[in-house]
Amino acid sequence: MKNIIYIDENIPQWKGNLHMHSTRSDGELPYRQIIEAYKQMGYDFCMMSDHDIYWDSDELDTQDFLVLSGTESSTAENPNGLWFISRQSSHWMHFCAIKDPMAAANGQTLKHDEPVPRIVDTGITSWNDQIDYLIKTGHIVVLNHPRWSRISPEHMLALNGCFAMEVWNTISESLETTGESEYEWDYCLRNGKRIFAVAADDSHYLNEKIPDTGAFINVSAPKLDKVSLVDAMKSGNFYASRGPLIKDMRVQDGMLRIKCSPAQCVRLVSYEGFAPTYFAQGAPIEAINWKLEPGLKYVRAEIVDANGLKAWAQPVFLDELNE
Ligand SMILES: [Zn+2]
Ligand SMILES: [Zn+2]
Repeated sequence: MKNIIYIDENIPQWKGNLHMHSTRSDGELPYRQIIEAYKQMGYDFCMMSDHDIYWDSDELDTQDFLVLSGTESSTAENPNGLWFISRQSSHWMHFCAIKDPMAAANGQTLKHDEPVPRIVDTGITSWNDQIDYLIKTGHIVVLNHPRWSRISPEHMLALNGCFAMEVWNTISESLETTGESEYEWDYCLRNGKRIFAVAADDSHYLNEKIPDTGAFINVSAPKLDKVSLVDAMKSGNFYASRGPLIKDMRVQDGMLRIKCSPAQCVRLVSYEGFAPTYFAQGAPIEAINWKLEPGLKYVRAEIVDANGLKAWAQPVFLDELNE
């Protein structure tokens, strides 16, 4: 079995929120204010993902804070009413498109403040066409809030090209109890769809009214620049969280080894067999070591802290270890 390092304790981690809205779309705060707020909350980067309008500016970048370029892209209403029909069955397809500086350098690009073209919604084919367009214009794509979008896990299997999905969306949970999509994630993974998970705020308010902060990804990358961050995301060297930290995660000598911030429990989720859950006994858990079972398809870890908040590690695919 190969040794693979997923999160290396010797490489720095950068905290980011990939999903937020300003008055450029339906957020309540001007973009400067919301970006400043994330800086104050200890984040290292964010993406200004206003609906269907493009951000590509280094205006607010500093040495210790970056604003990634991109958008939250959605399909467009079908003038013949088909989109309305699909809306009756509750599908709202939203994708976070994160500019990949290396890919974007070679192709067609979008410009700052430009409206992002929207493909008319006629169902799954149009959703894939929208993703395709985003990839061709130099982006990596996240499927946003699957449960809020009311798509089925079967729909997700039919989607091509998303490198990640939101396993957690703070405002969808606050407003419509649709923020958590672990079932959908496992459904994809069990059916052979390799997709990473992000946690994001989708913040619109940043006030007492509606809780819309607290989620993040931590990206393990040698330095804070846009190329390094996106490369690390593409490789799965990051994790999603609402609080707990994963300090190190690796497969070494057939063992899955994780070091984390003090946890109440560490759940290993695996298919098609079972993996254990570790509960703190006396002192909180700060490390686990588990002998991988070769017959499993994948295993992923959830770190749960004393407040019940979770971090979600990316899945370990057993066949990658056996190559
Ligand atoms: Zn959305
Ligand atoms: Zn959004």
